[in-house]
Amino acid sequence: MATKKTEEIIEAAKKTAKKVAVKAAQVALDAAEAVVNAAAEKIQEANIPVITPKDAKIPEGPLELKWTNYKNHQKLVNPANKRRLDVIVVGTGLAGASAAASLAEMGFNVLNFCIQDSPRRAHSIAAQGGINAAKNYQNDGDSVYRLYYDTIKGGDYRAREANVYRLAEVSNNIIDQCVAQGVPFAREYGGLLDNRSFGGAQVSRTFYAKGQTGQQLLLGAYSALSRQIGKGKVKMYTRYEMLDIVLVADENGEKRARGIIARNLVTGRIERFFAHAVVVGSGGYGNTFFLSTNAMASNGSAAMQMYRHGALFANPCYAQIHPTCIPKHGDFQSKLTLMSESLRNDGRIWVPKKLEDAKRLQAGEIKGRDIPEEDRDYYLERRYPAFGNLVPRDVASRAAKERCDKGYGVNNTGLAVFLDFSDAIQRLGKDVVAQKYGNLFQMYEKIVDEDPYENPMMIFPAIHYTMGGIWVDYELQTSVKGLFCIGEANFSDHGANRLGASALMQGLADGYFVLPYTIQNYLSDQIGVPRMSTDLPEFAAAEKAVQDKIDRLMAIQGKRSVDSIHKELGLIMWDFVGMGRTAEGLKEGIKKIDAIKKEFWTNVYIPGTADHLNNELEKALRLADFIEIGRLMAVDALHREESCGGHFREEYQTPEGEALRQDDKFSYVGCWKYMGEDQEPQLIKEPLDYEFTERKTRNYKN
Ligand SMILES: Cc1cc2nc3c(=O)[nH]c(=O)nc-3n(C[C@H](O)[C@H](O)[C@H](O)COP(=O)(O)OP(=O)(O)OC[C@H]3O[C@@H](n4cnc5c(N)ncnc54)[C@H](O)[C@@H]3O)c2cc1C
Repeated sequence: MATKKTEEIIEAAKKTAKKVAVKAAQVALDAAEAVVNAAAEKIQEANIPVITPKDAKIPEGPLELKWTNYKNHQKLVNPANKRRLDVIVVGTGLAGASAAASLAEMGFNVLNFCIQDSPRRAHSIAAQGGINAAKNYQNDGDSVYRLYYDTIKGGDYRAREANVYRLAEVSNNIIDQCVAQGVPFAREYGGLLDNRSFGGAQVSRTFYAKGQTGQQLLLGAYSALSRQIGKGKVKMYTRYEMLDIVLVADENGEKRARGIIARNLVTGRIERFFAHAVVVGSGGYGNTFFLSTNAMASNGSAAMQMYRHGALFANPCYAQIHPTCIPKHGDFQSKLTLMSESLRNDGRIWVPKKLEDAKRLQAGEIKGRDIPEEDRDYYLERRYPAFGNLVPRDVASRAAKERCDKGYGVNNTGLAVFLDFSDAIQRLGKDVVAQKYGNLFQMYEKIVDEDPYENPMMIFPAIHYTMGGIWVDYELQTSVKGLFCIGEANFSDHGANRLGASALMQGLADGYFVLPYTIQNYLSDQIGVPRMSTDLPEFAAAEKAVQDKIDRLMAIQGKRSVDSIHKELGLIMWDFVGMGRTAEGLKEGIKKIDAIKKEFWTNVYIPGTADHLNNELEKALRLADFIEIGRLMAVDALHREESCGGHFREEYQTPEGEALRQDDKFSYVGCWKYMGEDQEPQLIKEPLDYEFTERKTRNYKN
């Protein structure tokens, strides 16, 4: 007979055996589930369409010969035939204006459209800091390869090698072209063009014209454009907004872009325009966030029109948050102001070391200059000794957020860090600092009412640029035949993060040096296509759809202004699809965006009528698309289970808080195909197989 003690032992043994069995069963179950999941993933993978390098028209051959080979073998259009072909260019920013001027100079007939009252007022005019090129004037070790490498690495290895190499290659031509146009780049005492440094590079390769580089470059492009307007080769349509693209099927049933529907913003009249090809350079969609550094009229509607017609939307979640913007100061603000990245050449970024100092700054009891040197934490120099204050934007933005989240923010909201020039003023003198950055200092003082020569500037990250955009092949053609996309509007060469001074380079590369070649490869097959009448049923149907949408919006007569709904969307985007993203937050964000869509389409109020100038109607049409883009950004961000560049999924970070890529799973361009109103979009992948570059973890520490 078992004693009580033995019984206890048997009972305990039974319990242990049960636990072990349950654990073993659980392990077996987990293993089985993993196998099933892997199989399901494989099946799903197998169903996801893939874009091959051939589909993307990437030329064969060594990296440095691809573009040369392409140009040597592409089809050309002879001068007599060029005169018979019409091209619509939407946009007069650096991309649109340079493309329109170049195509007209070559002999095509160009119809050029923009929203503003002058081509010169496109958003590009705001660009401050500069434009990159691999001239190596500084003799500091720059080269085409190094510019290529920095750009690919800066984008966290999520861009096409062939495109980025071409961009670096033509960068030098851009500088020559602009100098020939008379763009007043800053010069050294000896007369050579001067350069300064931008983030993500250890060389000085940024050409600049004070803090107004975009304006000067745009004036150059505008003068080239004006010459063509004068010659009658460009017909300019200012204050016209494209509201749709018209596709007409060819004899094989293939749909091709053959024109646009645009609204004359002054008279409200909706008009039809034909062309043999349509080029869209409509800029980025950063204003989805309502508050951004973008111009007020910047929008994503042209991109959505292309998307609805079958052009793929690539990497919509890749949006850039710029670290040096003037912090938000109130709830009634409609715009954020950028302080150029060039300021990080000489300005040092810091927050107090002690929390009590941060609290006193937040309470307005002391100023930045009151904090002694030994109590300042130059956190970028501390964390990233090799690049210091010139780490790329995504890294600098996250580091600022990290300090502010820990309570070290320096303004009344606790959401700001210092950008300090006291060192530079001591080293170079106030006059030299003023010569380099004077207009930026003046702008800061006007907005913040504080003298940045006396007290450090306050800055905070803000939405600035969108790397995502319409997918284009190597020829800059979208997935719709005859529809091209250039500049910030396309998914561009910047991967998951754009380096400073590379947007102007890309916009002008596209417009002056790439599209003028590649579009001929398409147009050479169109020389036999006669001009079409805009009375065709395709034009009539597109116009009717536009008119119906406007009528529907005007009929809502709800209670909320366009801006109030846009502001709500912006907050959701910042909170759920902003600097730090999580699966849970993104799912919540999608639900909230869906609710906003409902609110917009039932409760928006647009005063006035549609048959004359109506700013609120313009904004409502753009907001309808921002809502869709916002959702697409969230869907893309949710599917991309990794952190790369500006896309930071909090679940995927290193122990030091750096972005953690998953190259084995996500080394592809995520392209989304429109499947109809309120339908989930379909994912299509363009794998990024790196042939020429070794992918590494980005390191700016040593
Ligand atoms: C404040 C600021 C500073 C910057 N500084 C720099 C810098 O120093 N260096 C750098 O490389 N980059 C900089 N950038 C980024 C750079 O300025 C932009 O990426 C670039 O200028 C975009 O040029 P774009 O031609 O593609 O588009 P945009 O300049 O945005 O032009 C878009 C054009 O499309 C037109 N348009 C849009 N939709 C329609 C429609 N539906 N119908 C008709 N027309 C339409 C507009 O009217 C406009 O003419 C900066 C950006 C900001 C916001």
